[in-house]
Amino acid sequence: MDAHGEICRAIDDYREKVVAVSHEIHEHPELKFEEHLAADLLTRAAKELGLEVERGIGGLETAFRAEFGGDGPTVAILAEYDALPNGHSCGHNLIAGAALSAVAGLKSIAGKFKLPGRIIFLGTPAEEGGGGKIIMIDKGVMRGVDAAMMAHPTDAEWCTMPALATQHIKLKFRGHAAHAALAPWDGSSALAAVLQTFQSVDAMRLHLRDGSRIHGIITDGGQAVNIIPEKTECLFLARGKTSRYTEEIGARVIRCAEAAAMATGTIVEAIIEGGYKNLINNLSMAHRYAAHNEALGTRSPVAPDNIPTGSTDMGDVSHVMPAIHPAFAISRHGEGNCHEDAFVAHADSTRGYDAMIRVAKAMAMTAYDLLAEPELMAATKKEFATRRES
Ligand SMILES: [Zn+2]
Repeated sequence: MDAHGEICRAIDDYREKVVAVSHEIHEHPELKFEEHLAADLLTRAAKELGLEVERGIGGLETAFRAEFGGDGPTVAILAEYDALPNGHSCGHNLIAGAALSAVAGLKSIAGKFKLPGRIIFLGTPAEEGGGGKIIMIDKGVMRGVDAAMMAHPTDAEWCTMPALATQHIKLKFRGHAAHAALAPWDGSSALAAVLQTFQSVDAMRLHLRDGSRIHGIITDGGQAVNIIPEKTECLFLARGKTSRYTEEIGARVIRCAEAAAMATGTIVEAIIEGGYKNLINNLSMAHRYAAHNEALGTRSPVAPDNIPTGSTDMGDVSHVMPAIHPAFAISRHGEGNCHEDAFVAHADSTRGYDAMIRVAKAMAMTAYDLLAEPELMAATKKEFATRRES
């Protein structure tokens, strides 16, 4: 009996069940920290697999953890299941399904092969702007885990994802209100300060390193058209290839705001509201995942450094333990990608579910190898230690 073959057979046998769970999560999209139905469905399925499930871990109502296996190293398989206001346009129902199937595959061999280590099925809420994984790291939920993995749907197939670091910045301007026709000279416009900030940021972005991003919205542009705006507010999201450089971009945005405040006779308060770290892709794990994926018929090369990419709180996980976050294709280029309305349908398609089952197998076999091959785990940990220092 070979472990890989057994894992894949068990995952195939589990298909109907996991597609039903993933579909139901898709049909009932829940926003960050409100994923009660999804957490119920996933934990019920885990219990049916014979796992003991702990709910509400890390102080998060919709987080959960279940573990099984024997003595040895520990690998965590992470599920995300939050949606966006336009539904499951990021396909997190497939992330949850892939993680659940991988766990089902590994659980099925735990008895027969005496799993040489532990598997943790971790339910991580609020990836979309809530940073659930960061809260869980801070609360110690991930202590004792040797390596972590999850896979994310997109329009391409990669064994790595060069996700960017982020910093969220809120800017609050305060000026002086005055009648906009009768006595504008008595006022100072907090709206002029916001507009000037956006102009300065646009002038500055040419000077940023390739791959950086700054995008902003005005969340409060004034109180009435015939009053010089006294209070305004805007949000910026700065992104860069490393957390350190992203902090530098954020500092430049704040400098633009301070200059705008000085020019308009207003004052500004800058509030840094957190962010995600860049993703350090563990290549020892990623190459093994890619080898299994290729044996299943799909090539998933290492992503080039300059591909368009987003950000994820899995980045923060990758700074505290070796981690992978491969991308799997559920649409073709141009047919819709993450966060677009068109992606919602892809996340509930036969193509999507086929890909979900395939990556579940590749992840489960990679997790098994990490437990069964001490040399692979040693290489993974050595690489993590070296790259974190650099
Ligand atoms: Zn996502």
